[in-house]
Amino acid sequence: MPTPAVPAAPQEATFSERSLRKSVETFIRKSLHLKAHYVTTVKPSHEEMVVEIDRLRCRALRCGVCRGRCRTIHQVEEARRWRDLSLRNRPLVLHYRPRRVRCRRCGVRVEAVPWAQLWARVTTALARAVAELARHLSWQETARHFRLDWKSVASIVRRVVAYGLERRRRRPLHLLGIDEVSRRKGHYYLTIVYDLERGALLWVGEDRTEQTLTRFFTGLGRRRSATIQIVCLDMWQAYLKAVRSHAPNAPVLFDRFHLVQHLNRAVDEVRRSEMRRLSGREKTFFKRTRFLLLKNPWNLRTDERERLSTLVRWNTPIVRAYYLKEAFQLFWDYRQPARAEQHLERWMHSAMRSRLQPFKEFVRMLRAHLDGVLAWTRLRVSNGALEGMNNKIKLVSHRSFGFRTVKNFTAAIYHCCAYLPLPEEC
Ligand SMILES: [Zn+2]
Repeated sequence: MPTPAVPAAPQEATFSERSLRKSVETFIRKSLHLKAHYVTTVKPSHEEMVVEIDRLRCRALRCGVCRGRCRTIHQVEEARRWRDLSLRNRPLVLHYRPRRVRCRRCGVRVEAVPWAQLWARVTTALARAVAELARHLSWQETARHFRLDWKSVASIVRRVVAYGLERRRRRPLHLLGIDEVSRRKGHYYLTIVYDLERGALLWVGEDRTEQTLTRFFTGLGRRRSATIQIVCLDMWQAYLKAVRSHAPNAPVLFDRFHLVQHLNRAVDEVRRSEMRRLSGREKTFFKRTRFLLLKNPWNLRTDERERLSTLVRWNTPIVRAYYLKEAFQLFWDYRQPARAEQHLERWMHSAMRSRLQPFKEFVRMLRAHLDGVLAWTRLRVSNGALEGMNNKIKLVSHRSFGFRTVKNFTAAIYHCCAYLPLPEEC
């Protein structure tokens, strides 16, 4: 953006100063895309640059609701101000008295101004700039950058999200991913629906009940629900019920990401309960053996191999848990459904006899949802997208402590993950 020098408030402006002022006004008029309005004066002050705007009497104004041309002015409103982008580090502020116009279709309405959305307190250009930065920084940092307060950034993002949700493209859905996010240590939950094919977030809803997901499917409509080919989800009964009743033809896949999460949780539970049980000396021995169990066997040095074999001879629950975990992971590589099923059956059998309570619970969960687990070999939907999105949402959640309300947190998630279109300047 070129930055014209702004003349100091002149009492008796010389010819050259007058022409310079004129060119500044023209520059601002053009950059704001003014057609029915014009810049009356530009008054630079210490902190900001005030641009006074008025309407051109010969041009028709537009209705704020339908954007239709309106000839009759009903009333002149109080003067309002809009923050705009900065010019040479000085914020531009627009002053204008909006007109109430009589629209043929909508009745008496506030006119549409070309520089801002209806009822916005900043210009569209500033809203866009704030929104773009807020995708990468926290709201606090964004506010500091633009010298706004946190609340202004929050309301800009919420507005931008509402605009984007209204105007985003509705493309056919094939691969659906459903996940949950907890806030404030399980104080409340959000249900998140992804389009796994495009790696984009589709929908965020409060809570994680069957009704929550039903709301999503109702919004989606029956026709769009019918195109869904696969639904990936966690083994959460409420979601499963909602999917079964609204997309009955789509096969359900319990995705790899969540299964591994459950498995790791089982291993960790075993490890923690064993650590509580062990005495001091045994504890220190175990602390330094974790890497032995995680390392690939062929990478071990001779002394490490010996230590590992001692450990294995002990046959402690931790070792059994690690072996079970590693053996389970082979399941992902099978190409033939029958072989995969055989492997899983054998694994579940040995896990049930392992005398490890967390694993028994895991097996019970698997048994209850076996079809959805075995679907992996057939469908092989990559869980990369889901995992990536999950991490991104965690990042958004950690980035700011300001999301005290569900409304703001939801807006932030949509803003960072849904790739919504930003408002255009018209
Ligand atoms: Zn109208």
